[in-house]
Amino acid sequence: EAASKAPGWQIDGPALSSPLLLLGVTLQTMTIKPDLSSAVGHTPLLRLRRASELTGCEVLGKAEFLNPGGSIKDRTALGLILDAEKKGLLRPGGTIVEGTAGNTGIGMALIGASRGYRTVIFMPDTQSREKIDALRVAGAEIRLVPAAPFKDPRHYVHIARAYCESLNEQAPDSAWFGNQFDNTANRDWHEVTTGVEIWEQTGGKVDGFVCSAGTGGTLAGVGRALKSRKARVTIALSDPTGSALANYINRGELVAEGGSISEGIGSSRITANFQDAPIDMAWSIPDQESIPLLHELLHDEGWCVGGSSGVNLAGVIRLAKALGPGHTIVTVLADAGTRYQAKLFNPPFLREKGIPVPEWLQQSFGG
Ligand code: PMP
Repeated sequence: EAASKAPGWQIDGPALSSPLLLLGVTLQTMTIKPDLSSAVGHTPLLRLRRASELTGCEVLGKAEFLNPGGSIKDRTALGLILDAEKKGLLRPGGTIVEGTAGNTGIGMALIGASRGYRTVIFMPDTQSREKIDALRVAGAEIRLVPAAPFKDPRHYVHIARAYCESLNEQAPDSAWFGNQFDNTANRDWHEVTTGVEIWEQTGGKVDGFVCSAGTGGTLAGVGRALKSRKARVTIALSDPTGSALANYINRGELVAEGGSISEGIGSSRITANFQDAPIDMAWSIPDQESIPLLHELLHDEGWCVGGSSGVNLAGVIRLAKALGPGHTIVTVLADAGTRYQAKLFNPPFLREKGIPVPEWLQQSFGG
């Protein structure tokens, strides 16, 4: 009786009911992966106990921090690289150039190492030390540029594109610009991997999906995969304050208020990947609401995840309120909290930002 009530069994139930699916799951876990690319994705779906109890819903988090490079952006990197290889845009021994908040760059550098490419990454100098260190270790050449708005030619994406063009002028077809924000191979890859995995892992018993958006690839791709299989699924955007996306969905205005310490999410413009995302609901989430959920998840359940996962968890709670109890809601745990240790789990930093510091965290640092 105890075993049948264990969370793992409840979740495995619907998926294991199909022999074909059982075969697929077994093959995924039993096969030896020949290289890094084949180890990207196929992440577990975790039952989030506290969020489930609080909402009366079944709350499931896709454990994307378990990817080889530590984030969901390994999927984006792989999807873009495979598409470029197929189209002949990225040649053997070529150079990958990308503009990124960090995680996509880490994925590209590792996949690049495994597939024989050099990787050059342009990123704003506002991103976490830990991500920059991970990029260095992954073997990327890093160019840090001062943060600038997208309409400014000094924005990291424009500088990356121009650098790639200059390489190709020197040596034709030697470099490829990933262009994760507006290259819809990003969204398409999430549709056929992340989205299909969520569908299969829940055995189709999914009522809602909510996550934040940076490029919008995850939200649009998963949204499309689920809506095409089940019209009544609700897709929601959980947006950090300081981003214009929730306002755009709710009021048609690309305006933003406030800010957030979360990284890799939020946008001041509509990217090609975000453009056609099938979004039913959207909320703007302040750090004061999202970060305490991260702290609780670590303290009560042991999952140490990054800032975007906190924004996603806040979205889960709002979506559960909108749908009512008894529904299954899926979200994304995009990367690990260790990638932002000096911010998210640092009492003086949190206090400076006006974010509550839980007692246990204070005590860990000597009271
Ligand atoms: N969470 C984290 C930690 C990220 O790095 C990113 C992407 N930069 C996202 C979420 C957003 O994912 P997407 O680009 O697919 O919208």
